[in-house]
Amino acid sequence: MRIWYLPLAQLDRKRILAQHHEVHMLWNLIVRDDRKWGEFTRVDAPYLASVHTRSMAAMKVAGYTGHVTPIKWINDDRGFLPDYATYARLNASRAMTDRIMEDRWHLVLRWGGTYLGARPLTEMAQWEQNQWEELVARYVRQKGCLHDGAREDLGKGWELCLLCKQYKRTKHPSAIWIPKDVPVA
Ligand SMILES: [Zn+2]
Ligand SMILES: [Zn+2]
Repeated sequence: MRIWYLPLAQLDRKRILAQHHEVHMLWNLIVRDDRKWGEFTRVDAPYLASVHTRSMAAMKVAGYTGHVTPIKWINDDRGFLPDYATYARLNASRAMTDRIMEDRWHLVLRWGGTYLGARPLTEMAQWEQNQWEELVARYVRQKGCLHDGAREDLGKGWELCLLCKQYKRTKHPSAIWIPKDVPVA
């Protein structure tokens, strides 16, 4: 599960749906069941509700209609933080602009060096278009993913780069990274 910080309509259609699904799961985990998850606790309910609202707006941009799963708001007086207070806390622990740039970079890696978001680049502010274009240029400059983040051991001698979701045979001198759509033998 993940909460994205960039404007959610800049995710691809699949991830827009996934974000909506995940924010419901996180709501149940954090707010209903009162458990900590990452940087969030129950007091952050209004922020999670705002992520839900933004994910519904992104679904609309992506052409999805017929949302049928509203957040089950829980009224209690144990004290929720207003959403901007959660935002300020997140921003203080790591600048929101950095989080957004990391989101964009992860997406460029997953999209194989291009932009596949639901909202067309031409409908964004110029500075936002420029940020995407700079990341695509960086991808080209460094010749794709450097596979320098977390990796998952898939067993049977295969590993997965969690940044680009390409596979490789471990400990094989000439192994190449294989795109995720090609099934592992
Ligand atoms: Zn919903
Ligand atoms: Zn990679």
